[in-house]
Amino acid sequence: MPILRKREIENLEQMNGEELQGFLDTLPAGQETVSELLDFLEDELYDAECNHSLQLSMKFMMDRKLDFPKFTSWLNNNGGYCDCKVMEQIAPIWRKKFGDD
Ligand SMILES: [Zn+2]
Repeated sequence: MPILRKREIENLEQMNGEELQGFLDTLPAGQETVSELLDFLEDELYDAECNHSLQLSMKFMMDRKLDFPKFTSWLNNNGGYCDCKVMEQIAPIWRKKFGDD
């Protein structure tokens, strides 16, 4: 039986100090980069429909030469199965914690 783990992102709101630092240390890219990805997806999805893949996220990762297997699995583990899900599941919690600018 698979163990259903609570998504790490759901705990983000309560994290502080060392716990928050630990979370940031395990991110697939810097905090800034994740914020930039969310801004990028928001802009791109403004006039394009999500095609239910991580196509736009992949483009962002490739342009920046990020570690995309690692980044993709982090997104998936946090409910970001496609570009619109990243915006729906990750962006609100992320922006609440780290601000929207
Ligand atoms: Zn989608």
